Amino acid sequence: MVCRMLTNWAGNIAFTAQRLDSPATLDELRKSVTDSARVRVLGSGHSFNEIADSEGTLLSVAGLPPAVEVDRAASTVRVAAGVRYAELARQVHQHGFALHNMASLPHISVAGSVATGTHGSGNENGSLATAVRELDLITADGELLTLSREHDGERFNGAVVSLGALGVVTSLTLDLVPAFEMAQRVHTGLPLSVLDEHFDAVTSAAYSVSMFTDWRGPRFGQVWLKYEAGREPEFPWAPEAEGPLHPVPGVSPEHCTQQQGVPGPWHERLPHFRAEFTPSNGEELQSEYLVDRADAVAALHAVDSVREAVAPVLQICEVRTMAGDGLWLSPAYGRDTVGLHFTWVKDMEAVEPVLRLLEERLAPFAPRPHWGKVFTVPTTQLTDRYPRLAEFRSLARELDPAGKFTNAFLAPLLGEA
Ligand SMILES: Cc1cc2nc3c(=O)[nH]c(=O)nc-3n(C[C@H](O)[C@H](O)[C@H](O)COP(=O)(O)OP(=O)(O)OC[C@H]3O[C@@H](n4cnc5c(N)ncnc54)[C@H](O)[C@@H]3O)c2cc1C
Repeated sequence: MVCRMLTNWAGNIAFTAQRLDSPATLDELRKSVTDSARVRVLGSGHSFNEIADSEGTLLSVAGLPPAVEVDRAASTVRVAAGVRYAELARQVHQHGFALHNMASLPHISVAGSVATGTHGSGNENGSLATAVRELDLITADGELLTLSREHDGERFNGAVVSLGALGVVTSLTLDLVPAFEMAQRVHTGLPLSVLDEHFDAVTSAAYSVSMFTDWRGPRFGQVWLKYEAGREPEFPWAPEAEGPLHPVPGVSPEHCTQQQGVPGPWHERLPHFRAEFTPSNGEELQSEYLVDRADAVAALHAVDSVREAVAPVLQICEVRTMAGDGLWLSPAYGRDTVGLHFTWVKDMEAVEPVLRLLEERLAPFAPRPHWGKVFTVPTTQLTDRYPRLAEFRSLARELDPAGKFTNAFLAPLLGEA
Protein backbone atom coordinates (compact mmCIF):
# COMPACT_ATOMS: atom_id res chain seq x y z
CA MET A 1 0.00 0.00 0.00
CA VAL A 2 1.33 3.46 -0.84
CA CYS A 3 1.95 5.38 2.34
CA ARG A 4 0.28 8.81 2.54
CA MET A 5 1.18 11.03 5.50
CA LEU A 6 1.43 8.29 8.07
CA THR A 7 2.56 9.76 11.37
CA ASN A 8 3.67 8.50 14.76
CA TRP A 9 1.24 8.55 17.71
CA ALA A 10 2.22 12.05 18.78
CA GLY A 11 1.92 13.36 15.21
CA ASN A 12 5.31 15.12 15.41
CA ILE A 13 6.91 12.74 12.89
CA ALA A 14 5.52 12.29 9.37
CA PHE A 15 7.06 9.07 8.07
CA THR A 16 8.84 9.43 4.75
CA ALA A 17 8.39 5.77 3.75
CA GLN A 18 7.09 5.09 0.26
CA ARG A 19 5.05 2.03 1.21
CA LEU A 20 3.29 0.56 4.24
CA ASP A 21 3.06 -3.23 4.21
CA SER A 22 0.95 -5.09 6.72
CA PRO A 23 1.47 -8.80 6.03
CA ALA A 24 -1.03 -11.29 7.44
CA THR A 25 1.28 -14.32 7.26
CA LEU A 26 4.96 -15.06 7.76
CA ASP A 27 5.33 -15.84 4.05
CA GLU A 28 3.92 -12.45 3.10
CA LEU A 29 6.26 -10.85 5.63
CA ARG A 30 9.28 -12.67 4.18
CA LYS A 31 8.33 -11.52 0.70
CA SER A 32 7.97 -7.93 1.85
CA VAL A 33 11.45 -8.07 3.39
CA THR A 34 13.16 -9.74 0.44
CA ASP A 35 11.41 -7.48 -2.10
CA SER A 36 12.44 -4.27 -0.33
CA ALA A 37 15.82 -2.57 -0.62
CA ARG A 38 15.14 -0.64 2.58
CA VAL A 39 12.67 -1.68 5.25
CA ARG A 40 11.88 -0.75 8.87
CA VAL A 41 9.31 -2.21 11.20
CA LEU A 42 6.66 0.01 12.71
CA GLY A 43 5.31 -1.14 16.07
CA SER A 44 2.49 0.85 17.64
CA GLY A 45 4.21 4.10 16.60
CA HIS A 46 4.66 5.51 20.11
CA SER A 47 8.23 6.68 19.62
CA PHE A 48 8.75 10.42 19.36
CA ASN A 49 11.66 10.50 16.89
CA GLU A 50 12.55 9.08 13.45
CA ILE A 51 13.79 5.73 14.79
CA ALA A 52 11.02 3.75 13.07
CA ASP A 53 11.07 5.61 9.75
CA SER A 54 12.22 4.05 6.49
CA GLU A 55 13.37 5.42 3.16
CA GLY A 56 11.64 2.47 1.53
CA THR A 57 9.05 0.21 3.14
CA LEU A 58 7.46 0.48 6.56
CA LEU A 59 6.34 -2.92 7.68
CA SER A 60 3.71 -3.38 10.36
CA VAL A 61 3.51 -6.69 12.22
CA ALA A 62 0.09 -5.80 13.65
CA GLY A 63 -1.65 -7.88 10.94
CA LEU A 64 0.04 -11.15 11.94
CA PRO A 65 -2.06 -13.51 14.09
CA PRO A 66 -1.99 -12.03 17.64
CA ALA A 67 -0.93 -15.26 19.35
CA VAL A 68 -0.39 -15.32 23.11
CA GLU A 69 0.62 -18.80 24.33
CA VAL A 70 1.28 -19.36 28.02
CA ASP A 71 3.51 -22.29 28.99
CA ARG A 72 2.51 -23.00 32.58
CA ALA A 73 5.27 -25.51 33.24
CA ALA A 74 8.01 -23.18 32.04
CA SER A 75 6.36 -19.97 33.42
CA THR A 76 6.74 -18.25 30.06
CA VAL A 77 4.57 -16.70 27.40
CA ARG A 78 5.23 -16.69 23.66
CA VAL A 79 3.69 -13.55 22.20
CA ALA A 80 3.36 -12.25 18.66
CA ALA A 81 5.48 -9.14 18.15
CA GLY A 82 2.64 -6.71 17.41
CA VAL A 83 0.54 -7.52 20.48
CA ARG A 84 0.21 -4.62 22.91
CA TYR A 85 1.02 -4.94 26.59
CA ALA A 86 -2.60 -4.31 27.68
CA GLU A 87 -3.81 -7.39 25.80
CA LEU A 88 -0.79 -9.49 26.76
CA ALA A 89 -1.25 -8.63 30.45
CA ARG A 90 -4.95 -9.46 30.36
CA GLN A 91 -4.33 -12.92 28.92
CA VAL A 92 -1.31 -13.71 31.08
CA HIS A 93 -3.34 -12.76 34.17
CA GLN A 94 -6.14 -15.12 33.15
CA HIS A 95 -3.59 -17.94 33.35
CA GLY A 96 -2.52 -16.92 36.87
CA PHE A 97 0.71 -15.22 35.82
CA ALA A 98 2.17 -11.71 35.74
CA LEU A 99 4.83 -9.70 33.93
CA HIS A 100 7.49 -8.38 36.29
CA ASN A 101 6.83 -4.79 35.24
CA MET A 102 4.99 -2.51 32.82
CA ALA A 103 5.50 0.94 31.30
CA SER A 104 3.29 3.92 32.22
CA LEU A 105 1.02 3.27 29.24
CA PRO A 106 -0.09 -0.29 28.34
CA HIS A 107 -1.02 0.52 24.72
CA ILE A 108 2.50 0.05 23.31
CA SER A 109 3.54 -3.03 21.31
CA VAL A 110 5.72 -5.66 22.93
CA ALA A 111 8.36 -5.86 20.18
CA GLY A 112 8.58 -2.06 19.76
CA SER A 113 8.98 -1.56 23.51
CA VAL A 114 11.64 -4.24 23.82
CA ALA A 115 13.52 -2.86 20.80
CA THR A 116 13.99 0.55 22.49
CA GLY A 117 14.67 -0.59 26.07
CA THR A 118 11.34 0.64 27.42
CA HIS A 119 11.03 0.41 31.20
CA GLY A 120 8.79 0.90 34.22
CA SER A 121 10.22 1.61 37.65
CA GLY A 122 11.66 -0.23 40.65
CA ASN A 123 15.17 -0.52 42.05
CA GLU A 124 15.10 -4.28 41.62
CA ASN A 125 13.19 -4.35 38.31
CA GLY A 126 14.99 -4.63 35.00
CA SER A 127 13.55 -2.95 31.90
CA LEU A 128 10.78 -4.79 30.02
CA ALA A 129 13.42 -6.25 27.67
CA THR A 130 15.02 -8.17 30.53
CA ALA A 131 12.01 -10.50 30.55
CA VAL A 132 12.82 -11.70 27.02
CA ARG A 133 14.01 -15.29 26.99
CA GLU A 134 13.87 -16.01 23.28
CA LEU A 135 13.04 -14.16 20.08
CA ASP A 136 12.26 -15.08 16.49
CA LEU A 137 13.29 -12.70 13.76
CA ILE A 138 13.16 -12.63 10.00
CA THR A 139 16.52 -11.37 8.80
CA ALA A 140 17.39 -9.46 5.63
CA ASP A 141 17.58 -12.63 3.51
CA GLY A 142 14.08 -13.70 4.61
CA GLU A 143 15.36 -16.49 6.88
CA LEU A 144 13.95 -17.17 10.34
CA LEU A 145 16.52 -16.83 13.13
CA THR A 146 15.75 -17.89 16.70
CA LEU A 147 17.99 -16.57 19.47
CA SER A 148 17.62 -17.55 23.10
CA ARG A 149 19.13 -16.55 26.41
CA GLU A 150 19.82 -20.20 27.10
CA HIS A 151 21.65 -21.09 23.90
CA ASP A 152 23.02 -17.91 22.38
CA GLY A 153 24.68 -16.05 25.25
CA GLU A 154 26.17 -12.72 24.25
CA ARG A 155 24.73 -12.87 20.72
CA PHE A 156 21.28 -12.97 22.34
CA ASN A 157 22.20 -10.05 24.64
CA GLY A 158 23.09 -8.10 21.53
CA ALA A 159 19.85 -8.86 19.71
CA VAL A 160 17.17 -7.98 22.30
CA VAL A 161 17.34 -4.17 22.37
CA SER A 162 17.85 -4.08 18.61
CA LEU A 163 16.44 -0.67 17.58
CA GLY A 164 14.92 -2.65 14.70
CA ALA A 165 18.35 -2.87 13.05
CA LEU A 166 18.71 -6.66 12.90
CA GLY A 167 15.48 -7.80 11.26
CA VAL A 168 11.77 -8.18 11.90
CA VAL A 169 10.97 -9.68 15.29
CA THR A 170 7.92 -11.88 14.79
CA SER A 171 7.50 -13.35 18.27
CA LEU A 172 9.08 -13.21 21.71
CA THR A 173 9.11 -15.56 24.67
CA LEU A 174 8.97 -13.74 28.00
CA ASP A 175 9.56 -14.86 31.59
CA LEU A 176 6.51 -14.74 33.84
CA VAL A 177 6.07 -14.60 37.60
CA PRO A 178 3.03 -15.74 39.58
CA ALA A 179 0.14 -13.24 39.42
CA PHE A 180 0.02 -10.89 42.39
CA GLU A 181 -2.24 -8.24 43.86
CA MET A 182 -0.95 -4.70 44.05
CA ALA A 183 -2.03 -1.37 45.45
CA GLN A 184 -0.71 2.13 44.97
CA ARG A 185 -0.58 5.24 47.10
CA VAL A 186 0.36 8.76 46.10
CA HIS A 187 2.26 11.05 48.47
CA THR A 188 2.58 14.78 47.86
CA GLY A 189 5.24 17.44 48.35
CA LEU A 190 8.64 15.76 48.65
CA PRO A 191 11.46 18.34 48.83
CA LEU A 192 14.47 17.67 46.58
CA SER A 193 16.66 18.12 49.67
CA VAL A 194 15.22 14.89 51.14
CA LEU A 195 16.68 13.01 48.18
CA ASP A 196 20.17 14.36 48.98
CA GLU A 197 20.19 12.10 52.03
CA HIS A 198 17.58 9.47 51.24
CA PHE A 199 17.47 8.83 47.49
CA ASP A 200 17.98 5.06 47.84
CA ALA A 201 15.53 4.77 50.72
CA VAL A 202 12.86 6.72 48.81
CA THR A 203 13.24 4.74 45.59
CA SER A 204 13.25 1.43 47.44
CA ALA A 205 10.18 2.28 49.55
CA ALA A 206 7.98 0.15 47.26
CA TYR A 207 8.12 -2.38 44.41
CA SER A 208 7.90 0.52 41.93
CA VAL A 209 8.38 4.20 42.78
CA SER A 210 7.80 7.17 40.45
CA MET A 211 8.51 10.76 41.46
CA PHE A 212 6.87 13.63 39.57
CA THR A 213 7.86 17.30 39.48
CA ASP A 214 6.93 20.27 37.31
CA TRP A 215 10.25 21.91 38.26
CA ARG A 216 8.47 25.05 39.35
CA GLY A 217 10.31 24.55 42.61
CA PRO A 218 12.95 22.19 44.09
CA ARG A 219 10.33 19.62 45.07
CA PHE A 220 8.45 16.60 43.80
CA GLY A 221 4.73 17.30 43.77
CA GLN A 222 3.85 13.59 43.75
CA VAL A 223 5.49 10.27 44.61
CA TRP A 224 3.65 7.16 43.39
CA LEU A 225 4.28 3.99 45.38
CA LYS A 226 3.18 0.70 43.80
CA TYR A 227 3.45 -2.22 46.19
CA GLU A 228 2.41 -5.80 46.63
CA ALA A 229 -0.93 -5.84 48.46
CA GLY A 230 -0.46 -6.33 52.17
CA ARG A 231 3.07 -4.91 52.18
CA GLU A 232 2.19 -1.33 53.10
CA PRO A 233 5.15 0.95 52.38
CA GLU A 234 6.54 3.27 55.02
CA PHE A 235 6.96 6.76 53.62
CA PRO A 236 7.79 9.26 56.36
CA TRP A 237 9.06 11.99 54.00
CA ALA A 238 5.77 13.33 52.57
CA PRO A 239 2.05 13.03 53.45
CA GLU A 240 -0.40 10.90 51.47
CA ALA A 241 -2.68 12.66 48.98
CA GLU A 242 -6.27 13.19 50.08
CA GLY A 243 -7.73 11.92 46.81
CA PRO A 244 -6.68 10.40 43.47
CA LEU A 245 -4.33 12.49 41.32
CA HIS A 246 -3.13 12.70 37.73
CA PRO A 247 0.65 13.22 37.44
CA VAL A 248 0.09 16.53 35.61
CA PRO A 249 -1.27 19.06 38.13
CA GLY A 250 -4.87 20.04 37.45
CA VAL A 251 -5.67 17.18 35.04
CA SER A 252 -8.53 14.85 35.99
CA PRO A 253 -7.32 11.48 37.36
CA GLU A 254 -10.20 9.57 35.70
CA HIS A 255 -7.84 7.80 33.27
CA CYS A 256 -5.30 6.89 35.96
CA THR A 257 -5.07 3.47 37.58
CA GLN A 258 -6.66 3.21 41.00
CA GLN A 259 -4.87 4.80 43.96
CA GLN A 260 -5.44 5.20 47.72
CA GLY A 261 -4.29 1.70 48.60
CA VAL A 262 -7.16 -0.18 46.93
CA PRO A 263 -5.81 -3.64 46.04
CA GLY A 264 -6.24 -5.00 42.52
CA PRO A 265 -4.52 -7.11 39.87
CA TRP A 266 -0.90 -6.20 39.07
CA HIS A 267 -1.70 -5.09 35.50
CA GLU A 268 -4.27 -2.58 36.77
CA ARG A 269 -1.75 -0.92 39.09
CA LEU A 270 1.70 -1.13 37.44
CA PRO A 271 0.84 1.22 34.51
CA HIS A 272 -0.15 4.77 35.46
CA PHE A 273 -2.95 4.79 32.90
CA ARG A 274 -5.91 2.45 32.53
CA ALA A 275 -5.95 -0.01 29.63
CA GLU A 276 -9.57 0.85 28.75
CA PHE A 277 -8.56 4.46 28.11
CA THR A 278 -7.01 4.42 24.63
CA PRO A 279 -5.58 7.76 23.56
CA SER A 280 -5.55 7.84 19.75
CA ASN A 281 -2.91 10.54 19.56
CA GLY A 282 -0.86 12.66 21.90
CA GLU A 283 -0.60 16.34 22.75
CA GLU A 284 2.94 15.99 24.04
CA LEU A 285 6.58 15.28 23.29
CA GLN A 286 8.78 13.17 25.53
CA SER A 287 12.51 12.98 26.33
CA GLU A 288 14.38 10.87 28.84
CA TYR A 289 17.99 10.73 29.96
CA LEU A 290 19.22 7.66 31.80
CA VAL A 291 22.21 7.94 34.12
CA ASP A 292 24.02 5.76 36.62
CA ARG A 293 21.94 5.61 39.78
CA ALA A 294 25.03 6.63 41.76
CA ASP A 295 24.78 10.01 39.96
CA ALA A 296 21.04 10.43 40.52
CA VAL A 297 21.15 13.21 43.09
CA ALA A 298 23.84 15.20 41.28
CA ALA A 299 21.91 14.85 38.01
CA LEU A 300 18.70 16.06 39.68
CA HIS A 301 20.53 19.12 40.98
CA ALA A 302 21.87 19.73 37.47
CA VAL A 303 18.28 19.83 36.23
CA ASP A 304 17.25 22.00 39.18
CA SER A 305 19.96 24.51 38.17
CA VAL A 306 18.11 25.14 34.87
CA ARG A 307 14.54 24.71 36.08
CA GLU A 308 13.57 28.26 35.10
CA ALA A 309 14.22 27.29 31.47
CA VAL A 310 12.68 23.82 31.83
CA ALA A 311 9.42 24.63 33.64
CA PRO A 312 7.74 26.84 30.99
CA VAL A 313 7.80 24.08 28.31
CA LEU A 314 7.28 21.15 30.67
CA GLN A 315 4.06 19.29 31.38
CA ILE A 316 5.67 16.96 33.92
CA CYS A 317 8.99 15.32 34.77
CA GLU A 318 9.09 11.75 36.11
CA VAL A 319 12.01 10.07 37.85
CA ARG A 320 12.13 6.26 37.84
CA THR A 321 14.75 3.65 38.61
CA MET A 322 15.61 0.31 37.07
CA ALA A 323 18.10 -2.49 37.69
CA GLY A 324 21.15 -2.68 35.46
CA ASP A 325 21.23 -5.37 32.75
CA GLY A 326 23.52 -7.00 30.21
CA LEU A 327 21.63 -6.14 27.01
CA TRP A 328 24.15 -4.37 24.81
CA LEU A 329 22.10 -1.35 23.68
CA SER A 330 19.91 -1.12 26.76
CA PRO A 331 20.08 2.33 28.36
CA ALA A 332 20.48 0.40 31.65
CA TYR A 333 23.42 -1.66 30.34
CA GLY A 334 25.96 -2.39 33.04
CA ARG A 335 24.64 -0.01 35.66
CA ASP A 336 21.74 0.38 38.04
CA THR A 337 19.98 3.29 36.45
CA VAL A 338 17.78 6.29 37.06
CA GLY A 339 15.71 7.76 34.23
CA LEU A 340 14.95 11.48 34.18
CA HIS A 341 11.90 11.72 31.97
CA PHE A 342 10.29 14.91 30.61
CA THR A 343 6.83 15.23 29.08
CA TRP A 344 6.98 18.49 27.14
CA VAL A 345 4.40 20.71 25.53
CA LYS A 346 3.96 19.76 21.87
CA ASP A 347 6.12 22.55 20.44
CA MET A 348 9.50 21.29 19.25
CA GLU A 349 10.70 24.79 18.40
CA ALA A 350 10.25 25.88 22.02
CA VAL A 351 11.49 22.59 23.49
CA GLU A 352 14.66 22.13 21.43
CA PRO A 353 16.79 24.87 23.07
CA VAL A 354 15.80 23.49 26.47
CA LEU A 355 16.88 20.00 25.39
CA ARG A 356 20.28 21.38 24.37
CA LEU A 357 20.66 23.14 27.72
CA LEU A 358 19.64 20.02 29.65
CA GLU A 359 21.97 17.82 27.64
CA GLU A 360 24.83 20.23 28.32
CA ARG A 361 24.12 20.17 32.09
CA LEU A 362 23.71 16.40 32.17
CA ALA A 363 26.79 15.71 29.98
CA PRO A 364 29.11 15.07 32.99
CA PHE A 365 26.92 12.06 33.81
CA ALA A 366 27.20 10.51 30.31
CA PRO A 367 23.43 10.19 29.95
CA ARG A 368 21.96 7.67 27.54
CA PRO A 369 18.90 9.19 25.86
CA HIS A 370 15.84 6.93 25.63
CA TRP A 371 15.96 5.51 22.09
CA GLY A 372 12.28 6.25 21.48
CA LYS A 373 12.12 9.85 22.69
CA VAL A 374 13.41 13.22 21.45
CA PHE A 375 17.01 14.29 21.99
CA THR A 376 19.46 16.50 20.13
CA VAL A 377 22.82 14.81 20.86
CA PRO A 378 24.03 13.37 17.53
CA THR A 379 23.98 9.56 17.69
CA THR A 380 27.70 9.59 16.79
CA GLN A 381 28.31 11.10 20.24
CA LEU A 382 26.60 8.16 21.90
CA THR A 383 29.22 5.64 20.81
CA ASP A 384 31.30 5.89 24.01
CA ARG A 385 28.16 5.54 26.15
CA TYR A 386 27.54 2.00 24.90
CA PRO A 387 30.60 -0.18 25.57
CA ARG A 388 29.24 -3.00 23.39
CA LEU A 389 28.38 -0.85 20.37
CA ALA A 390 31.26 -2.18 18.24
CA GLU A 391 29.95 -5.71 18.76
CA PHE A 392 26.42 -4.60 17.92
CA ARG A 393 27.70 -3.09 14.68
CA SER A 394 29.35 -6.43 13.79
CA LEU A 395 26.14 -8.30 14.56
CA ALA A 396 24.15 -5.89 12.38
CA ARG A 397 26.66 -6.27 9.54
CA GLU A 398 26.52 -10.06 9.82
CA LEU A 399 22.69 -10.28 9.82
CA ASP A 400 22.09 -7.37 7.45
CA PRO A 401 25.19 -6.93 5.25
CA ALA A 402 23.50 -4.51 2.83
CA GLY A 403 22.06 -2.29 5.55
CA LYS A 404 18.48 -3.05 4.54
CA PHE A 405 17.22 -2.31 8.08
CA THR A 406 19.15 0.93 8.49
CA ASN A 407 17.68 4.40 8.29
CA ALA A 408 18.97 7.96 8.61
CA PHE A 409 18.51 7.90 12.40
CA LEU A 410 20.57 4.73 12.85
CA ALA A 411 23.23 5.03 10.14
CA PRO A 412 25.61 7.29 12.16
CA LEU A 413 25.24 5.06 15.21
CA LEU A 414 26.01 1.99 13.15
CA GLY A 415 29.05 3.68 11.58
CA GLU A 416 27.42 3.73 8.16
CA ALA A 417 27.41 7.47 7.52
C1 LIG B 1 2.22 7.99 26.10
C2 LIG B 1 3.53 7.27 26.08
C3 LIG B 1 3.99 6.69 27.25
C4 LIG B 1 5.24 6.05 27.26
N1 LIG B 1 5.65 5.50 28.43
C5 LIG B 1 6.88 4.93 28.49
C6 LIG B 1 7.36 4.36 29.69
O1 LIG B 1 6.65 4.32 30.70
N2 LIG B 1 8.61 3.87 29.71
C7 LIG B 1 9.42 3.90 28.62
O2 LIG B 1 10.57 3.46 28.71
N3 LIG B 1 8.98 4.39 27.43
C8 LIG B 1 7.73 4.90 27.36
N4 LIG B 1 7.27 5.38 26.16
C9 LIG B 1 8.10 5.23 24.96
C10 LIG B 1 7.72 3.94 24.21
O3 LIG B 1 7.68 2.86 25.10
C11 LIG B 1 8.73 3.58 23.13
O4 LIG B 1 8.76 4.59 22.20
C12 LIG B 1 8.40 2.23 22.47
O5 LIG B 1 9.39 1.96 21.51
C13 LIG B 1 7.05 2.24 21.83
O6 LIG B 1 6.76 1.00 21.24
P1 LIG B 1 6.12 0.98 19.77
O7 LIG B 1 5.68 -0.39 19.48
O8 LIG B 1 5.14 2.07 19.63
O9 LIG B 1 7.43 1.25 18.92
P2 LIG B 1 7.60 2.09 17.57
O10 LIG B 1 7.73 3.52 17.92
O11 LIG B 1 6.60 1.70 16.58
O12 LIG B 1 9.05 1.54 17.13
C14 LIG B 1 10.16 1.71 17.97
C15 LIG B 1 11.34 0.89 17.44
O13 LIG B 1 11.05 -0.49 17.55
C16 LIG B 1 11.26 -1.12 16.30
N5 LIG B 1 10.31 -2.23 16.17
C17 LIG B 1 8.98 -2.20 16.41
N6 LIG B 1 8.45 -3.41 16.19
C18 LIG B 1 9.47 -4.22 15.79
C19 LIG B 1 9.56 -5.58 15.37
N7 LIG B 1 8.49 -6.37 15.33
N8 LIG B 1 10.76 -6.07 14.99
C20 LIG B 1 11.86 -5.27 15.01
N9 LIG B 1 11.83 -3.99 15.39
C21 LIG B 1 10.65 -3.46 15.78
C22 LIG B 1 11.02 -0.04 15.26
O14 LIG B 1 11.66 -0.34 14.04
C23 LIG B 1 11.64 1.15 15.97
O15 LIG B 1 13.03 1.14 15.78
C24 LIG B 1 6.02 5.99 26.08
C25 LIG B 1 5.54 6.55 24.90
C26 LIG B 1 4.29 7.17 24.90
C27 LIG B 1 3.78 7.74 23.63
